[in-house]
Amino acid sequence: MDAERDAMLSRLRQGGVRDERVLQAMAAVPRELFVGPGERVEAYADRALPIGCGQTISQPLMVAVMVEALGLQPGERALDVGTGSGYQAAVMAACGAHVVSVERIPALADEAVARLSNLGYDVEVVLGDGSLGVPERAPFDAIAVGAAAPRLPLALARQLREGGRLVVPIAGGPAGEELTRLRLASGRWETESLGPCRFVPLIGDDAYAEA
Ligand code: SAH
Repeated sequence: MDAERDAMLSRLRQGGVRDERVLQAMAAVPRELFVGPGERVEAYADRALPIGCGQTISQPLMVAVMVEALGLQPGERALDVGTGSGYQAAVMAACGAHVVSVERIPALADEAVARLSNLGYDVEVVLGDGSLGVPERAPFDAIAVGAAAPRLPLALARQLREGGRLVVPIAGGPAGEELTRLRLASGRWETESLGPCRFVPLIGDDAYAEA
């Protein structure tokens, strides 16, 4: 897996990822242990992979871009919405953050708990609707949403601490989704667009209704 991992890291650098802390975290987290046995040979390929329950683990570049956009500092408190396999939460923890991760599908949450604790990552997995955040664990320095929201999830923005960052894909027009970063600076929200992206839908009370 070492050669595949090195090839992934050069693709991340070529893709514009510069934060050494993020690159080291991506090098350290064993992505092959977050996908099914049938997907292992492809674990480091530049694409999203199925993780069961109709969900996918994002492609490595998207994970790296999102985590870099969070600007995590060691010791910060972070929320990961949409645990899925737990991979992105593990990358955030490997950047030194204390991570809370929320997932709505019980089977995925259970598997992620087992995987993350076996590997020893500082991630607390919570079962629930992450479109409402995790108020009992707020405020957070950083929040990442790994599923596309129909609009800015206000509850999440309200769970940021001063100086906090929220990175979320927001569905727009026909062009698809826009990765959006919001910062709480001097009590005001500033938003910025980070480019187009493609995610599974965020399903919940402040998101899409279940099909
Ligand atoms: N970041 C994950 C992949 C995310 S896929 C990884 O690294 O593997 C998106 C995940 O978001 C899916 O597991 C889906 O079930 C979950 N999800 C969708 N809507 C949600 C919500 N409202 N609250 C919590 N999880 C949600």
